Amino acid sequence: MLATTPAAPTTDHAQLIGLDTPLPRREGAPAPAINLDNAATTPPLRAVHAAVERFLGVYSSVHRGAGLKSQAASAAYEQARAVVGRFVGARPGQHQVIFTRNTTEALNLLARRIDLRPGQVIISSELEHHSNDLPWRAVAPVLHIRAARDGGLDLDHYAELLRRHAGRVRLVAVTGGSNVSGHLPPIHQLAALAHAHGAEIAVDAAQLAPHRPIDMGDLSDAAHLDYVAISGHKLYAPYGAGALIGRADTFARGAPMLAGGGSVRQVSGTSVEWVDGPGREEAGTPNAVGAIALAAACLALDQIGLPAIAAHEAELTAYALDELARVPGLWIYGDPDPAGAEARLGVIPFCLDGYDPHLVAAMLSYEHGIAVRSGSFCAQPYVRRLLASELTGCEPGQLGLVRASFGLYTAPEDVDRLVAGLRAIAAGDYDGLYERDPAGGGFRPIGWDPALTALFQL
Ligand code: PMP
Repeated sequence: MLATTPAAPTTDHAQLIGLDTPLPRREGAPAPAINLDNAATTPPLRAVHAAVERFLGVYSSVHRGAGLKSQAASAAYEQARAVVGRFVGARPGQHQVIFTRNTTEALNLLARRIDLRPGQVIISSELEHHSNDLPWRAVAPVLHIRAARDGGLDLDHYAELLRRHAGRVRLVAVTGGSNVSGHLPPIHQLAALAHAHGAEIAVDAAQLAPHRPIDMGDLSDAAHLDYVAISGHKLYAPYGAGALIGRADTFARGAPMLAGGGSVRQVSGTSVEWVDGPGREEAGTPNAVGAIALAAACLALDQIGLPAIAAHEAELTAYALDELARVPGLWIYGDPDPAGAEARLGVIPFCLDGYDPHLVAAMLSYEHGIAVRSGSFCAQPYVRRLLASELTGCEPGQLGLVRASFGLYTAPEDVDRLVAGLRAIAAGDYDGLYERDPAGGGFRPIGWDPALTALFQL
């Protein structure tokens, strides 16, 4: 145990929906599970749900109706746009907010919309989620900044890539926070260097936004961010919206990725004139409910306070790193030092000597009521790199790790439960009857059906 007990969570279970849903267990009465999979998707904030319910009272077509509800819905949609922009420190007139389905769509949209000249390249990194790598590969040669041994970015390699390809780097596309190791690259430092070399920077903030304040900055500031992508479902806001916040000048030129209703000013039999502003990129009826939910989450997080969220998660992460390191046969990947917890996210990848990571995740779920994720987290090159950095006895030949990730409601007792579960597994104290799930990479218990359809039916 650390000398200090980590602080209480920044919000309690009552402010979220679904944390206390009783789930079937193999033995005993149904009980809620502990969710340590916040890097995948966060549970909804009750304030988000409440805002959506209120909005449904005026729900109607957005930018497509003369009716008063339609006008109110349109105004609310535009208000959501302004709120999301403020949340990431976008500069009105310089940056614009485009609603998307998620970060993946935001980054694909940007890849299709930046103007690329022949011979130009994009710099990404080995730390990236596939969503911030594959879209770039589709449009230009991509150079990857190497991952350092501790899972961080090799900054010397970054500088070398910029020098070696001077004058040809169109964009640097990096993660604002790793969904695998929790590493937080120095995005403003990377931005200043990118700009000094005539490049722009795009930050995949899917993991950063729920945990740290973001300030894109004025375009005249050398360390500003040109583009930021976020997902509502990682920000306690389901309903299927994300956003790309980016330089207005990029989207003022050329045709949008999607063409159709809402994106045009004039159409003749042979020509089309696009509207100015974010509407150009939002052809089709927008997901207004999703946009309202995303904006409501931004307001709620601002009210709770991102500095408070960050401070709580740092203490919790330090505590977890300290406790996990004492579990026999457990290996932490990335930076295992509790002293570095403030400079990273509460996302911890690990494995247990001799155990398939998917089996560990299944045992934690079925036997201990703890939800984590296992596998390569849509970041195969990075997980491969992390696995190669440590010589461990973890199941050889497996591309996979176990990941525990925290949210603003995670409590020290949740970490204690995880550690107790892992200690039990490491000691061989588990029900060994599991089989590979033929439907996917995971494991399922033999001879027990949790009857999950009983949990929800239309
Ligand atoms: N980037 C990172 C760092 C992520 O963690 C994720 C989601 N795991 C994504 C991009 C993709 O986000 P989405 O699935 O919401 O498009």
